[in-house]
Amino acid sequence: MHQVLKAKRRSRRRQSPGPRPSVSSEEPAAPSSSLQASVLVLNRQYTAVHVVTARRAFGLLYRELAEVIHVDQGSFGTYSFHSWREVSELLAEEKQPHDDWIRTVSFEIRVPRVIRLLGFDRVPRQRLNLNRRNVLARDAHVCQYCGERFPTPQLSVDHVVPRSRGGQTTWENVVCACLACNIRKGGQTPKEAKMLLIHRPTRPKRNPLLLLKLHNPKYASWRTWLEGVLGDVGVGD
Ligand SMILES: [Zn+2]
Repeated sequence: MHQVLKAKRRSRRRQSPGPRPSVSSEEPAAPSSSLQASVLVLNRQYTAVHVVTARRAFGLLYRELAEVIHVDQGSFGTYSFHSWREVSELLAEEKQPHDDWIRTVSFEIRVPRVIRLLGFDRVPRQRLNLNRRNVLARDAHVCQYCGERFPTPQLSVDHVVPRSRGGQTTWENVVCACLACNIRKGGQTPKEAKMLLIHRPTRPKRNPLLLLKLHNPKYASWRTWLEGVLGDVGVGD
C-alpha cells in the first residue's frame, strides 16, 4: 500500500507544474480556429519580431520562455502562463465577441494577442515569403487587370511577363488576377493582351498579412507595438 502511494506521489512529482493546455490536434475540445489565431511576439526589448499561431504561443508560455502582455484600455500587464490562466477565469465572465478561447478538460484559457520572449530570441525573424497568400494580401484581393475584388478561391497569381517568355517569379512580376482575366490574358504580355495593370507590382515594404490583420478588430491591440516597426515583422507558422 505504502509502495503504491509512494509511486503515485513520485509520478505526480514528475508531472509538469500544472495542467497542460490542450494544444494538441487530437484534443477535440479545442476549436482549431482558436489554435490558429495569430499572436504577436515581442522580444525582450518589446520590439515586435514575429507572429506565431496560438498553438505555438501556448507552447512558449507553458515552457516559461515567454509571458503574456495583455493590453487593456491603454495600459498593459504581464502574466506567466499560470497567472494568465487565473486572469482568464475573470475574463471568461465577460467574453467579448472578438476573443478567442481554448477549452481544455479542466479549464478555459483565453488566447493572448501579444506575448514577450523572456530569453534570447528563440523564434528567429522570418523573411517575407513570396507566396500566393502574401501576393493576394499585397493586392488586397483585387484583380490587377479588371480592378474587382474577389474571394480567395476565385483568384490566381499571374505572371505579368509569362514564364514561357522568360518572366521571373518575383514580387515585381506577379500580381493577383481573377480567373477570367488570367484565362483571357493567357501566355501574353499585358501589352499584347491589351490588359493594363492598375498598379505596378512591387515588393511590399511591410508584411501585407499583418496589415490586413490590423484592420481586424481582433488584433487591434497589436497597434500599440507596431507603430513604426511594421516593416520589420515577419509572419510565421
Ligand atoms: Zn479580373
